[in-house]
Amino acid sequence: MAKQHKFLLDESQMPTRWYNIVPDLPSPPPPPLHPGTHQPVGPDDLAPLFPEDLILQEVSTERYIEIPEEVQDIYRLWRPSPLYRAHNLERALGTPAHIYYKYEGVSPAGSHKPNTSVPQAYYNAKSGVSKLTTETGAGQWGTALAFACALFGLECEVWQVGASYDSKPSRRTVIETFGGSVHRSPSELTEIGRKILGDLPDHPGSLGIAISEAVEVAGQDEKIHYALGSVLNHVLLHQTVIGEEAILQLEMAGEQPDVIVGCTGGGSNFAGLAFPFLREKLAGRMSPTIRAVEPASCPSLTRGTYAYDFGDTGGFTPLMKMHTLGHDFVPDPIHAGGLRYHGMSPLISHVYELGLMEAIAVPQTECFAAALQFARSEGIVPAPEPTHALAACIREALAAKEAGDERVILTALCGHGHFDMAAYDAYLGGRMVDEELTDQRFAEPLTRLPQIG
Ligand SMILES: *Cc1c(COP(=O)(O)O)cnc(C)c1O
Repeated sequence: MAKQHKFLLDESQMPTRWYNIVPDLPSPPPPPLHPGTHQPVGPDDLAPLFPEDLILQEVSTERYIEIPEEVQDIYRLWRPSPLYRAHNLERALGTPAHIYYKYEGVSPAGSHKPNTSVPQAYYNAKSGVSKLTTETGAGQWGTALAFACALFGLECEVWQVGASYDSKPSRRTVIETFGGSVHRSPSELTEIGRKILGDLPDHPGSLGIAISEAVEVAGQDEKIHYALGSVLNHVLLHQTVIGEEAILQLEMAGEQPDVIVGCTGGGSNFAGLAFPFLREKLAGRMSPTIRAVEPASCPSLTRGTYAYDFGDTGGFTPLMKMHTLGHDFVPDPIHAGGLRYHGMSPLISHVYELGLMEAIAVPQTECFAAALQFARSEGIVPAPEPTHALAACIREALAAKEAGDERVILTALCGHGHFDMAAYDAYLGGRMVDEELTDQRFAEPLTRLPQIG
């Protein structure tokens, strides 16, 4: 029989509701706190930045939330996304393992990000605002939000991390093509940006700084809201369409996952894939090991602290209990721009604390070696972020070879790397290096965590 590479669902099998893991956990995650009073934040505290529908989703304890028809219509432009069995990679590795990857690079932005940018733009447009501000690292989130804003008639203003703005000019052009505007962060347009540039004029920027700038601008005008591409509960919720589809697709393949690996920046593509499987695991219907993979240069789960911290560098956001490297930690300008966030989603941090998942950190040269092996066998050039997941897949597949078992490995290939040629060029030209990571490098920013009584 011919090998089956693709497992495809038809449109009628696309999920019509998002899955919220909170009611299925043995305890709820700790609440976000007001940065001034240190009391749990209420809906009113979030209202200047987010529409009511998203605030309700953020605090929801309902297991399932219906996906609005208008959002489903747009999802169908690229959903359901394909699940692939990586036969060619398996052969190249000589492994008996079965490797599956759910490919989100088929979306308009080339990543999983439109799964949440579309509902976020939809609910914001419904609430009557006229503009969204946001941050972007590598540019994937800015692209996805600009696309979604174009569909719902919203303006979109993006602060892009300086290091990525300089190294990936094509991403800016895509955002502008979708109708968005882009600023290099730190910028002269905000108080926090001017302050940081005053101290260090050629600052490379960070996601924490770009978030501060976008939040500062949104907070000044009630017609402007802010949109976040990762970290928050409602973002993880929207991404669960990935895992729900993958469950059906693995059923078609007649398999169950033994190991699920995914790259984690703020945690949204990983949670989107893994949480529906974790629901099945908690209900005793399957028992996969679930493992997050983070960059060695920004290892919030494996080398950070579990504590209340700000989501941004300026200290404007609510305090979130999460694994953090400290809100003013500036990661090395590694090529996986989407993974350079100082914190981890509070919900994933909580699941990690509950012992329901594992985490590892991988250096970028190992990730790009994995990317080349993957590209040369499967024919897709991955974004730098999911190269971390691929490196972990390959480690696992080689362990299966050593042990001589046919374990089933599942990952999300959460984006393609067509705009990341500078990263590939650096790797192919032998100019990519791994940062030396001393304990001192991580200890220092943690001394400035907010003190919660
Ligand atoms: C944004 C992004 C990430 C990191 O964000 P998560 O919320 O951790 O998923 C990873 N991969 C790609 C392709 C991205 O665009």
